[in-house]
Amino acid sequence: MEINILTVFYLIGSVTFILGLKMLSNPDSARKGNLIAASGMTIAILGTIFLYKDEEGKSLHNYAWIFAGIVIGAVVGTLAAKKVKMTAMPEMVSLFNGMGGACAALISIVEFNHLVRGYETGNPAMLYDLDKTTVVIIMSGLIIGSVSFAGSIVAWGKLNGKFKDYAFKGQHIFNLLLLGLVLLSATWLVVAPPENIFHLLFYGVFSLALTYGVLFVLPIGGADMPVVISLLNSFTGVAAACGGFLYDNKLMLTGGILVGAAGTLLTILMCKAMNRSLKNVLIGSFGATPTHATAQKAAGNYKEISVSDCAVAMSYARKVMIVPGYGLAVAQAQHVCHELEKMLEEKGVEVKYAIHPVAGRMPGHMNVLLAEADVSYDKLLEMEHANDEFKSTDVVLVLGANDVVNPAAKTDPDSPIYGMPILEVEEAKMVVVNKRSMKPGYAGIENELFFRQKTSMLFGDAKSVLQQLVNEVKSL
Ligand code: NDP
Repeated sequence: MEINILTVFYLIGSVTFILGLKMLSNPDSARKGNLIAASGMTIAILGTIFLYKDEEGKSLHNYAWIFAGIVIGAVVGTLAAKKVKMTAMPEMVSLFNGMGGACAALISIVEFNHLVRGYETGNPAMLYDLDKTTVVIIMSGLIIGSVSFAGSIVAWGKLNGKFKDYAFKGQHIFNLLLLGLVLLSATWLVVAPPENIFHLLFYGVFSLALTYGVLFVLPIGGADMPVVISLLNSFTGVAAACGGFLYDNKLMLTGGILVGAAGTLLTILMCKAMNRSLKNVLIGSFGATPTHATAQKAAGNYKEISVSDCAVAMSYARKVMIVPGYGLAVAQAQHVCHELEKMLEEKGVEVKYAIHPVAGRMPGHMNVLLAEADVSYDKLLEMEHANDEFKSTDVVLVLGANDVVNPAAKTDPDSPIYGMPILEVEEAKMVVVNKRSMKPGYAGIENELFFRQKTSMLFGDAKSVLQQLVNEVKSL
């Protein structure tokens, strides 16, 4: 009877995950969707703890361990979520993704040890009798989870600037050989487990998969990180689904498949947005070269514009397009940006936002940031639509964006961002770029846009500059 109730709990959990995911696709319903999915997960966890029974009808008994884990996890998670600055969100998402991968790898380690217990108790025949399908799933969870964990930790370090891009000569070949070795060793363990060294082999695969995860992400930099981040997301989902298979737990399977599928779709979308092929992503052979951080020399001088001149230009424009970037998130200037938008609209100016798919430091970063300030969703234009509208735009205001408007992506084949579609702001009549200095953005390269005829620089922290702009526009 309890098992049936548990199945109903799992069904509720699965439905809430799907509903939650659907609601996450719109900023208006995203918060509610997150809550709904989280409640489904709570129901499923409590159901498992109190209603689960194994084949012998035994319930869970180690409640002290279970609740100690839940309390520690809940406290750490709540504090981290409350304390994290909006700008550090991408790093936290990477870290949490890595924890999911680590869980999947740990499940594989625990279950492998369960499975070979017969061998430990002195029955070597058991080793060859292991259920091959189960071993394949265990090895898949171990490898994918470990790569996801190690890769996400490196991504976390890169996003917060602790790790630098690193590559050595011939690393792509080395990575491929390493991956081959991991897969061969895992196959050996599944097909013909060697009697004396099978434990060594298992932990060898684990260590090599961790090493591959590190080496796979380390060389990737410049504008290619978003693709890798979404790929790691999908890895964690697939690794969790392996856990679902192992435990024959439909909810874990559904959750894992949803994350895996969503991550894969996002990876494909990101590849499209960045103009990279998925094949190159998979062998880790794209992205920054070790020299990418050397800024190229941009020729000419830049000109500056004052706050009041910028305010006049925008107030008398027919159409203004705002291009938000990572700097807007750093400055936490989304609210005052929305205020400027409203002020301009009161003066009859049409205001829209041009959103580049990799602006900021995580997929959808700018959408989340602007939704937080209640910017209407229909004012946000995706890159293709924005590029169509720049021609009819009078003033483009670039707020803390850099790589996503860098023309080198179209003109310089040596640039680490070459091939990435950009927001073609130069099609507009006038471009104003707000940032604090002439320093480069994430890809570490100079931006010729700043030196172009149509461009004027408006230096300063985005929040303070926007506040001054609001005051000026008000007084006109
Ligand atoms: P960039 O990192 O290219 O540029 C941000 C700019 O903001 C900097 O040049 C900086 O210049 C400026 N800035 C920083 N703080 C402030 C502030 N307080 N006020 C005003 N300006 C400020 O950002 P983009 O959004 O243009 O591009 C995103 C980059 O990040 C891409 O290369 C992308 O590939 C990468 N990336 C994206 C991920 C994603 O999923 N979206 C994940 C990982 C990487 P200054 O210091 O002079 O002020």
